[in-house]
Amino acid sequence: MKILVINAGSSSLKYQLIDMDTRDVIAKGLAERIGMDSSRLTHRYGADCAEKYVVDTVFKDHTSAIQMVLDALVDAQHGVIADTKEIGAVGHRVLHGGDKFTASCIVDDACKNAIRACYPLGPLHNPANLQGILACEKVMPGTPQVAVFDTAFHQTMPPKAFMYGVPKKYYDKHAVRRYGFHGTSHRYVSGRAAQLLEEKGYKHDKMIVAHLGNGSSLSAVVDGKCVDTSMGLTPLEGVLMGTRSGNVDPAVVEFIANLENLSVTNTLTMLNKESGLLGISGVSSDMRDVNAAADAGNENAKLALDMWQYGIKKYIGAYAAAMGGLDTLIFTAGIGENDALGRWKVCEGLEFLGIKIDPEANKVRGEEKLISTPDSKVSVWVIPTNEELAIAMDTLELTSK
Ligand code: AMP
Repeated sequence: MKILVINAGSSSLKYQLIDMDTRDVIAKGLAERIGMDSSRLTHRYGADCAEKYVVDTVFKDHTSAIQMVLDALVDAQHGVIADTKEIGAVGHRVLHGGDKFTASCIVDDACKNAIRACYPLGPLHNPANLQGILACEKVMPGTPQVAVFDTAFHQTMPPKAFMYGVPKKYYDKHAVRRYGFHGTSHRYVSGRAAQLLEEKGYKHDKMIVAHLGNGSSLSAVVDGKCVDTSMGLTPLEGVLMGTRSGNVDPAVVEFIANLENLSVTNTLTMLNKESGLLGISGVSSDMRDVNAAADAGNENAKLALDMWQYGIKKYIGAYAAAMGGLDTLIFTAGIGENDALGRWKVCEGLEFLGIKIDPEANKVRGEEKLISTPDSKVSVWVIPTNEELAIAMDTLELTSK
């Protein structure tokens, strides 16, 4: 079966068409500037999706963008399928499932209503995600659709991990709590690790997954179930990220707002978009640029790296304590998969926890590999994430029932 995976944002939409027999991505692309005066579809196809077809046009809404994606998929010259009926199902990434979704679900009226009910929790993403779903319903009537939630994997956290120390009435009235994000990645990577470690005979009851990308989060996973994660009500909480501050004293918001004459909303925008690696280094939110600036002697870039490494190290220690031990540490996402020095620095000094990295093995980039020494008590791995494949696998499973 071929499955179309859609990640719809407010003005853009990413897609992949995956052949589930081979698990190959047969086409992928991006529709940009939806609802604006000029829009663009960039469609990639062919071996390793190396061929490119660009259409400059106007997408007045998500429906016209999805229609253009389907047109490109069946295009006589640049298409990869003869008929859109070859698409057996569509899987959608949905940001926030609140506490309503512990797993992916077939899109029906109840599912759509529940996505709407979570608008206050994901005010930017959930409406866009639903627009993507409604657009597919219009242009592909009868094709089953599945919603896969970024928050679902973390729903197994116990209350002691997901509650905030604010009056409980805010949880009772407004569902204010830790939800966590990147759940599809944490689930895919921890599942893949369990499979791999089982085959190789490694212990894997207590895992930490470090998803380190532009957005970063860590999760503690016991027997395949998430027991804690670093992101919170929103993706702002946790470690230092590309442009997000991660944890700060909440009083910082009022303090800066007053001194700089900013609104709370503007201050939060600053914490989300102007902080993190970018805000400290003053160079870039991209780790490659920050690494290069630090190598060239930029002190602010060096500080940003120190803060990034130190913050992640602290979470590893905290989660090892929370789980009462650690068997497996996994690095994934753009930085986790590619930045050997970053991984080394994060693990440096954690020998007391049983973590010993093999510098040679650690030279790996973007492939599944054991990077700890044979005598390391904790096995440390690089496992590339694949959120689109995870969404497609859920979609296949739910629509094949
Ligand atoms: P993601 O959000 O998972 O796509 O990850 C994006 C982040 O990965 C950016 O900060 C990139 O700079 C970082 N990244 C990608 N390749 C490398 C690399 N070779 N070394 C360091 N960071 C990298």
